[in-house]
Amino acid sequence: MELLHKRILQDGHCYEGGILKVDSFINHQMDPILMKSIGVEFVRRFASTEVNKIMTIEASGIAPAIMTGYLLNLPVVFAKKKKPSTMENMLHTQIHSFTKDRTYDVVISHDFLKPGDNVLFVDDFLAYGNAAIGVLDLIKKSGANLVGMGFIIEKAFQNGRKLLEEKGVRVESLAIIEDLSNCTIKIRK
Ligand code: 5GP
Repeated sequence: MELLHKRILQDGHCYEGGILKVDSFINHQMDPILMKSIGVEFVRRFASTEVNKIMTIEASGIAPAIMTGYLLNLPVVFAKKKKPSTMENMLHTQIHSFTKDRTYDVVISHDFLKPGDNVLFVDDFLAYGNAAIGVLDLIKKSGANLVGMGFIIEKAFQNGRKLLEEKGVRVESLAIIEDLSNCTIKIRK
């Protein structure tokens, strides 16, 4: 996705440990025009599939997920990183974050993820794949069917795709970062 590639090269910043900061246009300040194009591209890539629900995880997945859901006229549900006291029929998993170096609980209500749902999962980053594997666990526990996973940015050198594809998951990433060493952003053409 040319527009996204250009923006990452223009406004993205690398940090120690293979971290790419895109907080001026994706996950702190957000560019809604770019986010709409991201939604359009997810719709195009998954056009051949039957989806009835978009799923994501808070917080940074919500913007691309809502754009995709809006374009497809489908509901969007996000997994929460804190258990609300009022949540009923809760499904639970744990996710380890390498970027934050901690394990956290993730929950979603079974009321919004059910057997018979055909789910497209959308998120901002695919790195080591831990968040996505946690989501896969929630989907499995719910009895829903995962149609595919779409990521705005994949860091290929952290191998999350391999983990997911081994489990039979279809992965689509709009920008694939080959390398971030020496603080140079290398995007796959
Ligand atoms: P994973 O579980 O695949 O290792 O990482 C997924 C989550 O970690 C993403 O949803 C994202 O929030 C965060 N993350 C991983 N790598 C990066 C990065 O390079 N930059 C930013 N901003 N977030 C990242």
